[in-house]
Amino acid sequence: MTFWAGKSVLIAGGAGFLGIHLAEAVAVAGAEVNVVDNFSTSTPDAVNALKLTRNLLINVTQGDVSEDIPLPAADVVFNLASPASPVHYQSDPIKTWRANVFGSYNLMQHAIRNHAIFVQASTSEVYGSPLTHPQREEDWGNVNPNGPRSCYDESKRAAESVLMDAQRLGLMELRIARIFNTYGPGMAPDDGRALPQFIAQARAGLPVTLHGDGSQTRSFCYVSDLIRGLMLLASVPGISGSVINLGNPHEISVRELAELVIYSLGSSSRINLTPRPQDDPSRRCPDISKARHILGWNPEVSLLKGLELMLQSK
Ligand code: NAD
Repeated sequence: MTFWAGKSVLIAGGAGFLGIHLAEAVAVAGAEVNVVDNFSTSTPDAVNALKLTRNLLINVTQGDVSEDIPLPAADVVFNLASPASPVHYQSDPIKTWRANVFGSYNLMQHAIRNHAIFVQASTSEVYGSPLTHPQREEDWGNVNPNGPRSCYDESKRAAESVLMDAQRLGLMELRIARIFNTYGPGMAPDDGRALPQFIAQARAGLPVTLHGDGSQTRSFCYVSDLIRGLMLLASVPGISGSVINLGNPHEISVRELAELVIYSLGSSSRINLTPRPQDDPSRRCPDISKARHILGWNPEVSLLKGLELMLQSK
């Protein structure tokens, strides 16, 4: 009998890229999954298709968690409800802020009423333009509080703050994942995230566009590794109040990534440099000692393997 068997799991934002992979894995592990999503950066199609083809216990309802909406009973609440790519979160910054601040607050109240374990999808963006490298959970961040990225960075920080208060007050079991760049099948090619954009451009033989000179670094975690980490975070006992980086510490420059994609696809695309967006961080790499120690978690899929899997999936 696993932790998940017979559990009711609410996944807010469960129709998005990570949400679908999480819903599938949790349902396969034996839980009943309820997805609530406003479909602002997704559609119900993929999650409905998953439900039908895999015959899994997944219910989907449309709802905006920043509003006071009825939510299904839950033993575990995963809060993934936020746009994640700069293109999306900056297109309606106030809506992004509402999703992370009011949405997290509403889901927190729901988890408290249900005595549910709460897992928050926070982000490496809480470190802003980091002063330490690699980023450890103790780094308080270097964030522009009112720049164009702050609707996302600061609202994710505000969410961590209120959730930790509820945890410290003994109201709720909480685990916070600081997620670093994750990639894999199912990413939207047009939402501005580096890897799917490079793949779409290289496939079409178009110039692959990099911000700045492409020397800024990122680290990319394959989605199955990340989902395993999120499930461990929810299910390992006695770790309430833990804030844990989840990401792959293999660091690569954005230019090297673009060259790898072009090479892997045998594309004739060239690289095109565009101006760097304001507050774009120069380096991003997680220190995952805490995840290794507390969860026994380690990413297993190399970038080469993950890229191969992603390219095969479409
Ligand atoms: P995504 O945009 O693909 O999915 C987010 C989902 O949330 C979408 O289905 C969207 O419609 C839904 N949503 C947005 N606002 C909502 C609201 N107010 N009410 C209900 N649903 C709402 O993004 P993703 O990559 O799947 O990311 C999921 C979560 O993980 C986000 O919270 C994101 O901040 C976090 N995260 C992701 C990454 C990554 O690399 N994918 C990295 C760091 C953090």
